[in-house]
Amino acid sequence: MQLIRDIYAVRPANGRPVISFEFFPPKTAEGDRALLEKQIPALLQTRPDYCSVTYGAGGSTREKTLMIVDRIQRDHGLTALAHLTCVNHTREEVRRLLDQINALGCKNILALRGDPPGGGEFTATPGGFEFSKQLVQAIRETGDFSIGVAGFPEGHVACTEGKHADWQHLKEKIEAGADFVLTQLFFDNADFFEFRSHLRDTLGVNVPLVPGVIAILSATQIKKFTQMCGARIPAALGVKLEELSHDDAAAAEFGIEYATRQCQALLEAGVPGLHFYTLNKARSTVRVLHNLGLA
Ligand SMILES: Cc1cc2nc3c(=O)[nH]c(=O)nc-3n(C[C@H](O)[C@H](O)[C@H](O)COP(=O)(O)OP(=O)(O)OC[C@H]3O[C@@H](n4cnc5c(N)ncnc54)[C@H](O)[C@@H]3O)c2cc1C
Repeated sequence: MQLIRDIYAVRPANGRPVISFEFFPPKTAEGDRALLEKQIPALLQTRPDYCSVTYGAGGSTREKTLMIVDRIQRDHGLTALAHLTCVNHTREEVRRLLDQINALGCKNILALRGDPPGGGEFTATPGGFEFSKQLVQAIRETGDFSIGVAGFPEGHVACTEGKHADWQHLKEKIEAGADFVLTQLFFDNADFFEFRSHLRDTLGVNVPLVPGVIAILSATQIKKFTQMCGARIPAALGVKLEELSHDDAAAAEFGIEYATRQCQALLEAGVPGLHFYTLNKARSTVRVLHNLGLA
């Protein structure tokens, strides 16, 4: 399987942005079947460059994350990116997990600190890591993985010193060995452009900074999701979502339009790729890619 840093390195030459999809491990066997047999095959018809699979709180989805990574690679011959977090893991456990990921032929890891299961403040596991930067260093020492890290265009929610301090911490993750950055979702491109310009022009970061995009599926769901991840819903978008709060079909149509416009502006501004939070549903993301002429 390809190293994701090579995928981003080759793309600028052919002009097509790198398209990636994010999935999460379902909670039930029925959910597994729907994801593996219906949603992933439907999304793969748009010919993405790679897919990523999240890692549940505290390693709770460890087996499933790896199973889905394996199926993406073996059933579809597509490059996969395994998310990995520091929550509840000692360095020794991380080393064993890296061996497992490597044994699957997966060479790509998104190195994250993660959040404690059930919320609250993060505390490092004894013998584990405090920040994702240390996880990046440990992965770098283990083998030739391509490593991605998370970036936050509005600043990370827990960074009390503000977004510039958070972006400085992001720079440290890159200096520790990260090859590319996937961002948290956002709804105002101005936030991403400010983030990109600070990292590139002020901090001298030159790895790919890839915007994370979501096509809203329902007003209730996106409010819950943004509360969890700390992304801001701009006032005008909030008003529109209020109007559509009792009509999920209309909210999904609006979500497709909004994400299409957002992606068009990002592509015009020269982003290296688009990372879609699919919520394990193919329809809206496929429609956005068709609208962009990228399916
Ligand atoms: C694309 C993407 C995918 C994600 N996938 C998952 C997933 O699969 N599973 C999951 O559980 N979560 C996931 N998350 C959420 C992420 O784990 C949380 O947002 C978490 O709180 C922060 O992770 P991080 O890797 O950015 O942490 P870190 O980089 O460790 O940063 C955490 C906080 O510490 C601060 N900090 C960093 N270094 C220092 C320092 N030296 N001194 C002081 N403060 C410092 C940062 O500013 C930040 O506020 C994802 C997020 C994104 C954007």
